[in-house]
Amino acid sequence: MDVVVVGAGASGLRLAGSLIQAGISTVVLEGRDRVGGRLFSVDPGVDLGATWFWHNEHDVREVIAECGLEVFPQYAAGNMMFQVPGNVQELDGNPLDQQAFRIVGGMASLAHGLAAMLPEGTVQLSTCVLSIDFAHDFAHEFAHEHVSVTTNSDTYRAKHVVISVPPATALSNIVFTPDLPNELVSVAVRTPVWMGAVTKVVALYESPFWREQGLSGSAMSHVGPLREIHDISDRNASFGALFGFSRERVSEISVKSQLAALFGPRAGMPNSIILEDWSESPLTSPPGVFQLNDYQLFGSQVLRNAYFDGRLHFASTETAIDSPGHVQGALAAARATAANVVASLR
Ligand SMILES: Cc1cc2nc3c(=O)[nH]c(=O)nc-3n(C[C@H](O)[C@H](O)[C@H](O)COP(=O)(O)OP(=O)(O)OC[C@H]3O[C@@H](n4cnc5c(N)ncnc54)[C@H](O)[C@@H]3O)c2cc1C
Repeated sequence: MDVVVVGAGASGLRLAGSLIQAGISTVVLEGRDRVGGRLFSVDPGVDLGATWFWHNEHDVREVIAECGLEVFPQYAAGNMMFQVPGNVQELDGNPLDQQAFRIVGGMASLAHGLAAMLPEGTVQLSTCVLSIDFAHDFAHEFAHEHVSVTTNSDTYRAKHVVISVPPATALSNIVFTPDLPNELVSVAVRTPVWMGAVTKVVALYESPFWREQGLSGSAMSHVGPLREIHDISDRNASFGALFGFSRERVSEISVKSQLAALFGPRAGMPNSIILEDWSESPLTSPPGVFQLNDYQLFGSQVLRNAYFDGRLHFASTETAIDSPGHVQGALAAARATAANVVASLR
């Protein structure tokens, strides 16, 4: 095996596709029982991870075109709401949602599209990487495969390993032998996980009734529990949905009461509420994710360097220079790392 990629999020899947296209044998090991990582859509097609992309995000648009995905603009018409303690105001217009786009079926379609382009068997699901060993004394027939990657079920040998996992998360879950260089550890464990400390809350309705009242479904709040709210109904408005972000513990009752205060009593009676607390997900966020706030570490040269004679690379969105944090960043990191690995193997 030439390359083991750890993680089947947008970066790991894109990277594997590029490497395989260059004739490099690659396997992707994914701890969850699904691909996508922070691209996660559930019935009836609502996103619990990423929602939007933007027109200038060229790698995202390239993947969308390659996978033949349909897109539509984020609903932006109508007025937004603004909430401060003791007061709710309807503002003129909606500056929040301009120029964002969504993918029909949800952002996970992008991950499924990337995975579908890989040869069968490339992605191994429910395969959690526990340790990576660069020092192992291999038997002669494996002498050119210097890295040993141990999972919950097997051991893989390869020439290179790429960690397509947020650096702080990787260091909290994977044991490296020998120890990683001090400078790398110091930067990796302090690098924030984009949206890793966030709970995303989706409230589902029969229809986006707020639109009939001239409202966009978006809101900014200094009260909470949701600080920012948007319309996430599907393209044809076959159902209505509002979503919001929170960085605190959220109860359904507090969400219903806030939505009623913002959009009227009907908003306080959703058919259902879905909560996804990303801080509780150890394959996304390390313990203490709330304390990681130094976003200047995103795209650090220390995270973009290769280690152990060029055999260890990091390539999640947090390592990107172009749009770090976004899906665009994940794809850009994959592109940059693929170029490095291809050059090194040639
Ligand atoms: C709530 C939320 C909203 C967001 N909104 C947007 C948005 O609107 N637009 C936007 O552009 N971006 C958004 N983002 C960010 C976007 O989702 C990420 O930038 C992108 O998905 C990151 O991809 P990645 O491949 O770098 O990492 P990830 O998606 O985190 O992929 C890492 C993968 O590695 C796996 N893994 C971890 N550890 C191991 C291990 N030890 N062994 C095996 N597998 C492992 C994980 O299960 C995961 O599948 C949002 C994120 C969240 C959480």
